[in-house]
Amino acid sequence: MPKRPEFWQPVPKNPVEKKPAKRLARGKRVNPVSDKRRNDAKQYSEQRRFFLELRHYECELRVDGTCTGLASEIQHLVGRDSHRFLDMSTWKAACHGCHSYATTHPAEAYANGWAQRRTAS
Ligand SMILES: [Zn+2]
Repeated sequence: MPKRPEFWQPVPKNPVEKKPAKRLARGKRVNPVSDKRRNDAKQYSEQRRFFLELRHYECELRVDGTCTGLASEIQHLVGRDSHRFLDMSTWKAACHGCHSYATTHPAEAYANGWAQRRTAS
């Protein structure tokens, strides 16, 4: 058996002492979604269905070569943050293809009225 070099030391079995995982007391979990956010999401899903029915599920963007005609999504013309999220006056019914096209081609979206510049308000 070869001789061990002078500097050799056995590797400690448990070099880092494990700390017990920090846990919040039962029932004290941090709420992942606020009440407002949850209510908005619920209202959104109802409004969304209502809006799509109103538009007879017809896509309003009609991107050439992409459009399937059948709207299943909402294009938010001025974004969907805070109060705009539920503001149907800023919505357009869109099929998945058009919605994704409008999202990935902002310049064309502005030019074609699928998106509007936000004004300071
Ligand atoms: Zn479409």
